Amino acid sequence: MQGSTTPRNPGRRGRRWEWLVWAHSRYSRAYVLLVMLCAIVVVAVTASAGPPGGPDLLRCALITGLGVAAAELGRQIERRRRRFAGEAHINFTSVWTFPAALLLPPVLFAVVALVLYLHLLFRCDRDRPGCCLARALYNTGNVVLSCEAAAFAARRTEMFSALHASGMDSVLPLVAAIGAYFVVNMTIAAVPIALWGSDRSLRSVTGTVNDNILELATLCLGALTAVLLVSHPWLLVLMFVPLYALHRSALVRQFEVAATTDAKTGLLNAAGWHAIAGAELDRARQHGTGLGVLMIDIDHFRRVNNTLGHLAGDDALHAVGDVLRAVVRGNDQCGRFGGEEFVVVLPGSDPEAVLDVAERIRTRIAALRIVSASALRPFGVTVSIGVASYPGTGTTLAEILLAADHALLAAKDGGRDQVRAVAMR
Ligand code: GH3
Ligand code: MG
Ligand code: MG
Repeated sequence: MQGSTTPRNPGRRGRRWEWLVWAHSRYSRAYVLLVMLCAIVVVAVTASAGPPGGPDLLRCALITGLGVAAAELGRQIERRRRRFAGEAHINFTSVWTFPAALLLPPVLFAVVALVLYLHLLFRCDRDRPGCCLARALYNTGNVVLSCEAAAFAARRTEMFSALHASGMDSVLPLVAAIGAYFVVNMTIAAVPIALWGSDRSLRSVTGTVNDNILELATLCLGALTAVLLVSHPWLLVLMFVPLYALHRSALVRQFEVAATTDAKTGLLNAAGWHAIAGAELDRARQHGTGLGVLMIDIDHFRRVNNTLGHLAGDDALHAVGDVLRAVVRGNDQCGRFGGEEFVVVLPGSDPEAVLDVAERIRTRIAALRIVSASALRPFGVTVSIGVASYPGTGTTLAEILLAADHALLAAKDGGRDQVRAVAMR
């Protein structure tokens, strides 16, 4: 797995990488070097056992060649995926590096990983900001350590004979190897986000369910590749079609995410939020539960733009979005309606709980010190919040939003930096 994103666009879903930001911090650079160093040590220690044999070299050449051919076949798709706001995403190299882990000594699976990542760098990533040799080497280091974990879990010699077995013998070692590869790969990618990421929510650290399913799918294809390499190498050409189809479906999923995401804050955009809030309201009706809606507007935002500039304004929008994400629960959904206006839907919440969350958001934002490259010193903003609830203040989404809007206007009229709710009907 690898990911990348521009610092301004953390992405609502998926693992945030923020290469450009953290690659410049001392600790993160040390982390990158540590991963590479560990990978070099693993390769060096095992390489001292002797040079790889002819069959291993042949197999290494075959896996690398197939990996490069598959990458060339899907190059246009991969380039489009990578252009997509730098959204963190799963690449498909595990389809080739995983069988390399099972069938080759570390020095050779390191070669497979290095060639595939350099190929990705030069053929798909060349013109993207933040993509550099160091990142390709870091990703290679991550893959080498994941491969070593997979090889260890499956105890390579047994795995090799298990791959020849037609019965259940091959299942457990393969599952163990997939699990080890997945866990090590995810842990190495998650550590910098958990330690230095601006959004450290569980989802941003572990990735979304979709990310993880896709990663597992590439590993399962990798396991099938290993079996075919050992028993029916010529059938490997059949891998290209499902791999291409999976690649295309990942692109379609990225289109879907982009169509519902606000690029500036990584929250839902208005269309995405409406769709989800409407579905939540239907669910609340069916189950007879409550639901809250917050409408949040930054106070005197025009002044921020006028005095500090639009870039500082954008940084304030970004910071407010981060607070919303951090304060709400996992099933609450935050969106940016446009301008400096945000909305949150809180399913399963009674009016008191909704007011509580609104007050927490207001105080957290008032306490923010926003750092912006275009402002001389950190600055702050306040927000006014209008609160409405189902079923108390409305029964359709339009009614609830209108009620929240009225409450927001009351908060503005009341002097701003406050939470207001409309009276229940
Ligand atoms: P109030 O307290 O009454 O809400 O005052 P306000 O100045 O926040 O309200 P108003 O709606 O007059 O101003 C909103 C401003 O938000 C105007 C617009 O320039 C700015 N704005 C809208 N979208 C963006 C954006 O994406 N980035 C930045 N930096 N500013 C934006
Ligand atoms: Mg405003
Ligand atoms: Mg406004």
